[in-house]
Amino acid sequence: MPFKFTFRGVRGSYAVPGPSTLRVGGNTTCLEVRVEGNLILFDAGTGIIQVGREVAEELAERRKTQPDARVVASIFFSHMHHDHTQGFPFFKPVYFETSELHLFGPRMMNTDFGSGLATALLSPLFPVELSDMRAAKHIHNIYDTDVVVYPLSGEAPVMVKNKNGAEEYGPETPRVRCCHSYAHPNGGSMVYRIEWNGKSVVFATDVEGYVGGDQRLIHFAKGADALIHDAQYEEKRYFGYPNPVQGFGHSTPEMAAHVARSAGVRRLFLHHHDPESDDELVEAMAERARKSFPNTQPAVEGLTIEL
Ligand SMILES: [Zn+2]
Ligand SMILES: [Zn+2]
Repeated sequence: MPFKFTFRGVRGSYAVPGPSTLRVGGNTTCLEVRVEGNLILFDAGTGIIQVGREVAEELAERRKTQPDARVVASIFFSHMHHDHTQGFPFFKPVYFETSELHLFGPRMMNTDFGSGLATALLSPLFPVELSDMRAAKHIHNIYDTDVVVYPLSGEAPVMVKNKNGAEEYGPETPRVRCCHSYAHPNGGSMVYRIEWNGKSVVFATDVEGYVGGDQRLIHFAKGADALIHDAQYEEKRYFGYPNPVQGFGHSTPEMAAHVARSAGVRRLFLHHHDPESDDELVEAMAERARKSFPNTQPAVEGLTIEL
């Protein structure tokens, strides 16, 4: 049974369709992970919309032989900015009353994750309210101390407190751990680590580097097989007078490479590309990052990696 992930949206801020983004992709953030038969999604930018279409088609196919088949999926949100939520109301399975969706996100700015999500969809900004979406939704605040475990029996994911709580499940049981990064405006961003059978991938979007490196993140990402790290701005823009973007909560490829090197990960994917970066610039940024961390490549929409 493979452990694989697919980039479904790799862009930050807003979607950019058009000829200049054809190779890298124009949809906002969404990562699809498939492990032990579980569908686990990270963020619901516009990239999740196509996942929803495919899942709906798979369901129609399965129902030909298995009439009670249904969609069961998890979505972990890093935070509630538009580029991470705007695809959610267009994710088809939320409208199927047989769907079972496990939704996780951080409590931020004194607001529970569920209210944050409901606010993101609030009428009259969007015609349908979260409560009117027909899928069964299990909504959870998630904290640094929580681990979400996916039992091999196929039962619903279980939230346990801290690593020790997860130890009673063997390494062949997939799990998601998290680390709240404070390096993003208005409450930070949740970084996730998905582990299975000694393999792991870390999803660190919307994080900015610190002088000397983000030590909590470096520790959290230690030895991962893959690190997906924010690298929105090239250095020229990050520091550029008169409009530097330092402090906006995003990293340069050099910062991402520093984390990758310090954490001793196997490979690095630069993610959350700036909407103003065309294919050539994204590729040139990865080329520069390779000087400090050779096993670097840009996150590209549609790219699947099997661990
Ligand atoms: Zn973002
Ligand atoms: Zn953000």
